Amino acid sequence: MRCPHCGNPSSKVLDSRLIEDGAAVKRRRECELCGRRFTTYERVEQSPLLVIKRDGRREAFDRQKVLGGMVKACEKRSIPLDVLNEAAIAVEKELRERSKEEVASSEIGELVMEKLKGIDEVAYVRFASVYRRFTDAGSFMDELRALLSERGRGENRSEKG
Ligand SMILES: [Zn+2]
Repeated sequence: MRCPHCGNPSSKVLDSRLIEDGAAVKRRRECELCGRRFTTYERVEQSPLLVIKRDGRREAFDRQKVLGGMVKACEKRSIPLDVLNEAAIAVEKELRERSKEEVASSEIGELVMEKLKGIDEVAYVRFASVYRRFTDAGSFMDELRALLSERGRGENRSEKG
């Protein structure tokens, strides 16, 4: 990388650290010719990920929005932000591993529900109720029943185990 002060192409790295949850490396460099210091950033080049919304419009995937939705669902629950942030990162990772350039917003919603289910059941039901826009109380109750019976099975397993 050329020195921004004198244009010399060689520099030595003084310090190197991971930033942005490990998605980038920040390097402090010193020019080998003029001795002045500058900073460089290295990132993996990510292909764009577009979200197809319900109305057919596309927008760039935004992990902060995913996190925001989870934070809202977890209101007044004592879930550390770190846990939700990790879940949001996992959602993005899984979407990118599907190696498509476009994902339906419903795919994101399903993944978020899956993550919340493993984190907090109340948050999961809250998110699911908003996300799936249950048109009647019946379908919401079905979801709850499914959740409760799943939990029941889980408990039975652990008693036997
Ligand atoms: Zn220089």
